[in-house]
Amino acid sequence: KKAKLSRNDIAFYNQDDDKAQYRELTIINSLPKSLKQNQLHMVYQPKLDISSGKCSQVEALIRWEHDGLGIIPPTEFIPLAEHTGMIDLISKWALEQVLQQQVKWLQQGINIKVAVNLSTKDLENQHLPIDISNLLMQYKVPAENLMIEITESVLMLDLARTIETLKEIRELGVKIAIDDFGTGHSSLAYLRHLPIDEVKIDKAFLDDFNCDLQANKIVKTSIELAKSLGFDVTVEGVETKDVFDTLIEFGTDTIQGEYFSKPLVATDFELRYTQLIEQPFLFLPSSDNVK
Ligand code: C2E
Ligand code: MG
Ligand code: MG
Ligand code: MG
Repeated sequence: KKAKLSRNDIAFYNQDDDKAQYRELTIINSLPKSLKQNQLHMVYQPKLDISSGKCSQVEALIRWEHDGLGIIPPTEFIPLAEHTGMIDLISKWALEQVLQQQVKWLQQGINIKVAVNLSTKDLENQHLPIDISNLLMQYKVPAENLMIEITESVLMLDLARTIETLKEIRELGVKIAIDDFGTGHSSLAYLRHLPIDEVKIDKAFLDDFNCDLQANKIVKTSIELAKSLGFDVTVEGVETKDVFDTLIEFGTDTIQGEYFSKPLVATDFELRYTQLIEQPFLFLPSSDNVK
């Protein structure tokens, strides 16, 4: 195998490999220190309630500005943290971060649900429900102001046990959302067995929304199914007016995406929240469209 490669190929290959490995190691090794030094922060993406034109929910999304590597996207460091057992650190940090923010918002009269993304590994932790319960008591935040997002593909690993853990969390009053719905290999049939409140339909379906009749049908059917089972529905990744209008026709309850708002730092969110109370549907590009 080696003999087929020239010296240069080998050297080149190894160099690239080394670089990637070095980056991974740097990311993994610096995570605990970065967390302590506040190099990570949360941004909050508002979700638009279609019925009111206001925002009563946001999703917390983690951001990391590394002092040497610059911005590291969560899609890069979350999987690394999962593989190295460091996701615990991130999830605990994320929950605390969000609850501290909730305390501030509740003091300002901003009463919203904040969703936190948790990972597979978190659900394997049997202490998760009690940990969440303790944090809620510590910060005195009402359980229903917290939502947990679990990626659909995660569920299938050990369905029975996952359902048990989710049930315990939900019994606290915490809301549960299935994230990235439609990306797992699951059938729709198991959905009704899940102790959940909301289904978030993955943005992958929106990529060719208008020109792809199949993707369009999948979204429509998913919305209808989820609603018929009594779940709220959010569609994520909504970027254009066409998609937005079609989704409203399909009956989605909530939309999330750049068409309404990018993820915002807390203070920017506060401003928008207040403005939306005075002027529902503000910030939709179409409502500014005077032509
Ligand atoms: P997700 O939970 O599905 O989050 C939605 C992602 O879509 C976010 O990417 C968001 O910024 C992006 N997004 C929102 N609107 C639009 C849009 O209109 N168009 C497009 N193309 N994208 C949009 P982000 O922030 O890079 O996060 C990526 C993933 O990383 C998240 O996917 C989630 O799985 C994970 N993640 C983020 N924060 C956390 C965290 O605190 N803990 C854990 N465990 N995972 C996290
Ligand atoms: Mg999410
Ligand atoms: Mg996800
Ligand atoms: Mg998602």
